[in-house]
Amino acid sequence: MIVANLVADAEQQIRALGHRVTTGRVLTLAKLLAADKPLTHDMLLADFTTPMDRVTLYRTLDWLVHVGLAHRIRAEDRVWRFIAGGGSRKHPHFYCENTGKLICLTDIELPDIKLPAQFKVSHVEVVFHGVCER
Ligand SMILES: [Zn+2]
Repeated sequence: MIVANLVADAEQQIRALGHRVTTGRVLTLAKLLAADKPLTHDMLLADFTTPMDRVTLYRTLDWLVHVGLAHRIRAEDRVWRFIAGGGSRKHPHFYCENTGKLICLTDIELPDIKLPAQFKVSHVEVVFHGVCER
């Protein structure tokens, strides 16, 4: 269930970047904004009242990551999880080995790494493993 102001917020964020506003983009981003934890493709698919096909959802999530409105991380199971925002700033994550809780450590900015010529980073993934407060 997503509240109206999150839908409006999602729409505004897409519009602010000068991109085309589509129902799929808005609803997917609104779901990420509403979530209190990172969501997998399956969690997102199960949550749509109007079914969205898998390919469209994958493309939409890739697009949100590409434009920086969302970012993605993987945990133990190697399944991608998506989180609204945070795309412009590289940060590590924390994974709780007991509860599976996964959080953004946005106070820490990861440094740019000097790479050999012609090398290019496509994705950065730093995950601290441990236990949370529970
Ligand atoms: Zn994050």
